[in-house]
Amino acid sequence: MIIRPRRLRRTATIREMVKETRLSIKDFIAPLFIKHGQGIKDPISAMPGQYQFSADTVIEEVQELWSLGIPSVILFGLPDKKDEVGSRSWAEDGVVQRAVSAIKEKVPEIVVITDVCLCEYTDHGHCGVIRNGQIDNDPTLELLARQAVSHAKVGADFVAPSDMMDGRVAAIRKALDEESYQNTGILSYAVKYTSAFYGPFREAADSAPQFGDRASYQMDPPNVLEALKEAELDTEEGADIIMVKPAMPYLDIISRVREFSLLPLAAYNVSGEYAMIKAAEMNGWLDGNKAMMEMLTAIKRAGADLILSYFAKEAARKLTPDC
Ligand SMILES: [Zn+2]
Repeated sequence: MIIRPRRLRRTATIREMVKETRLSIKDFIAPLFIKHGQGIKDPISAMPGQYQFSADTVIEEVQELWSLGIPSVILFGLPDKKDEVGSRSWAEDGVVQRAVSAIKEKVPEIVVITDVCLCEYTDHGHCGVIRNGQIDNDPTLELLARQAVSHAKVGADFVAPSDMMDGRVAAIRKALDEESYQNTGILSYAVKYTSAFYGPFREAADSAPQFGDRASYQMDPPNVLEALKEAELDTEEGADIIMVKPAMPYLDIISRVREFSLLPLAAYNVSGEYAMIKAAEMNGWLDGNKAMMEMLTAIKRAGADLILSYFAKEAARKLTPDC
């Protein structure tokens, strides 16, 4: 035998030299849940190791993430009260607005991304306005734009619309520019599938829909061409970074969108992907650390440039900072 691939697998050092995919701490964006109130750090039962913070306690967490080398966080808000249109989502004293100000004051260099959606703020739990029992697309756009501007005003670096309404990236871009926030970027959840893997997040963000499901606006899991169409539309509308969500069951989609798009591509390693590994680890069914690193590496290998993950902190501890 002349060709023996095993020669390149013989020692750990050789394997390290020929490694084709390298995870970096700089790949990660850590999701954080912000609750109304003070002094809060409530554990989320379906996501062991994750918490709901108040705008004051989240600072410590952000400082720790930053000291580990994690470049960015994305914030989700749990408001004090909900209503039909989600009006607390654009309030000046809203939960996310206060958290962004506090983070930007204490850790100014960390890149703060804010999730933009209505579902955490509406009493019905849907991502848009309801008219005649339907999620009404166009009236929703103005509310999303108002929310995005309120985040830009307090210093968010990027706003991240996750609602899946048609035309929302263009509406947000226009509103930001009109208010002179030309430098606030848009990370769009361009390719977001309707998914059972979001289950634990709904407890974390208290955002379960009170009737029906989200299949009329989130994408249908069997579709691939539709993912490319959504990626193209959001790009034309002015997105700076696009995202595929979820990640692990959609590696083929990450790969296809990566080949298709010229924008940086993020993938969201969602709550269910996190919870599955945690649950199996707690039962002694697999090695949680190894499964975590294998999964994150696979997401990067598929083509993700950035990974939103609840594992960000744990993974960062295992990776050496870049020289
Ligand atoms: Zn939503």
